[in-house]
Amino acid sequence: MRELRESIIRLDQVPAEGLGLKGVIAPARLERLAAAVASLDRPVEVDLRLQRESDVYLLTGSVHGSVTLECEYCRGTFEQPLPQRLFLSVDPNPERALYRDPSQKGEVWVMEHADEQVEAPEGELDLIGALEDEWLLAIPHSPRCAEGCKGLCPVCGTNRNEAECGCAQPRRENPFDILAQLKKDE
Ligand SMILES: [Zn+2]
Ligand SMILES: [Zn+2]
Repeated sequence: MRELRESIIRLDQVPAEGLGLKGVIAPARLERLAAAVASLDRPVEVDLRLQRESDVYLLTGSVHGSVTLECEYCRGTFEQPLPQRLFLSVDPNPERALYRDPSQKGEVWVMEHADEQVEAPEGELDLIGALEDEWLLAIPHSPRCAEGCKGLCPVCGTNRNEAECGCAQPRRENPFDILAQLKKDE
């Protein structure tokens, strides 16, 4: 698939039937995303459409790509797919306080910007920037390679997913234990 050429898009040049945006985005063009993960090794494939809908533009479509994250528990790396569906509304006039809700075909006026609202000041959409913002939000705060990851042994550092080291585990301070101890001492 060809490299996606578009990076900055002038919204007033989007044709009435919409603009197809299909291609791959090389890791080198996704610097902020690459900096936030362990590694970004492969291009991200997108098949998107940008279309005017009432006062805003909708950027929708599918995404195929993944980032490599480091597990916070065992320090191993694992692949995390990017969300496969994209749905963003792009506002060419972010200073306006009111705009029509695109899902209501202009019938309803809403006061606040939707969470997934992307601003396009001066009518210019920074496509790569908007995609990076969206993907950065999708990265978990505490990456975990698997639901049952046992992490590293705090005593000897062995990866407990791979081997049992048999170390006596330090007990965690538990407020209930302290209470129980106080009761006993009474
Ligand atoms: Zn892990
Ligand atoms: Zn150990």
